[in-house]
Amino acid sequence: MKAARFHEVKKPLRIEDVPFREPGPEELLVRIRASGICHSDLHAMDGVIPYGSTPITPGHEGAGVVEKIGANIQDLKVGDHVVLRFVMSCGACAPCVQGTDNLCKKLRFLGFEENGTFAEYATVPSRHAIQLPNSISFEQGAIIGCAVVTPMHAMNIARVRPGSSVAIFGLGGVGIHAIQMSKIFGAAEIFAVDISDAKLSLAKSFGATYTINGSKEEAIDKIKRFTDGTGADFAFEFIGLPITQTQAINSVKRGGTVTLVGIPRQPLNIDLKYLLTNEIQLRTSFDHTRAEVDDVISLVETGRLDLSKSVSHKLPLEKVNEGIDILRNNTGDPIRIVVVP
Ligand SMILES: [Zn+2]
Ligand SMILES: [Zn+2]
Repeated sequence: MKAARFHEVKKPLRIEDVPFREPGPEELLVRIRASGICHSDLHAMDGVIPYGSTPITPGHEGAGVVEKIGANIQDLKVGDHVVLRFVMSCGACAPCVQGTDNLCKKLRFLGFEENGTFAEYATVPSRHAIQLPNSISFEQGAIIGCAVVTPMHAMNIARVRPGSSVAIFGLGGVGIHAIQMSKIFGAAEIFAVDISDAKLSLAKSFGATYTINGSKEEAIDKIKRFTDGTGADFAFEFIGLPITQTQAINSVKRGGTVTLVGIPRQPLNIDLKYLLTNEIQLRTSFDHTRAEVDDVISLVETGRLDLSKSVSHKLPLEKVNEGIDILRNNTGDPIRIVVVP
């Protein structure tokens, strides 16, 4: 099969012919029909997040068709459409049994530690494949598994309440979906903060009440101005930089909740006394749980979550490096770029 393979840090992926692995008794062979390109792929290719072993096939946002099933598989059959979960939990340890399988003691990551979805086929344990209704396209299915479910987990962690005000810092592929997700969680006012006017106008069309260009306006001042001087009830940071993390902390009201989602790339100096004396709750959100993928699929299937504008670029697998460059250089305002093997 054809696969895009990582060999060396800061080098393009190589399109190679490699054998696929026959599925074991608990596994599936999936014909990949779409695979999203994510910022965490860039981090890994740059050496910021190490791959488990190399060479490896990256790609962790995949959807496709079940091509072969292992002897013990009963809940899926050949021909079923599936979303692949990159959070490969064991299903048996205490966090898994308690429903927090993103904290599994034996957690592994598809596309980082196991060969992923930038390929014609992927062999995965069946518990990491979730049935996708035929009414949802493969492109939308692919991005559900990372870009769309990640903000849902963050909203669940923060416990966003109906009628509340929410500030979103960073409108990349994940952050932009936090706008729609805030609406689903009942937010009455949504502030979208980014430095790209194109992303801000997209956020507006996704339902943001106010947009703030952080390179031209004082985000905290504007958020306070539109919340009677108090600040937002909830803030989410999707970039991982101290400047936006600090802005998020300073944008919430006394008693507000700040949730960090972007992988931090450097330590943050926090004024704990400010947090404590204002009773600001600082939370962190890591990936997602299996149940949340089911919830996102239901929202898309019933039309409550519209992903029709979420995939901005569709490229053949052979052009995966082109897609990676588009994301890296932010050319043509990408929302989510999908490769089709
Ligand atoms: Zn991702
Ligand atoms: Zn586990």
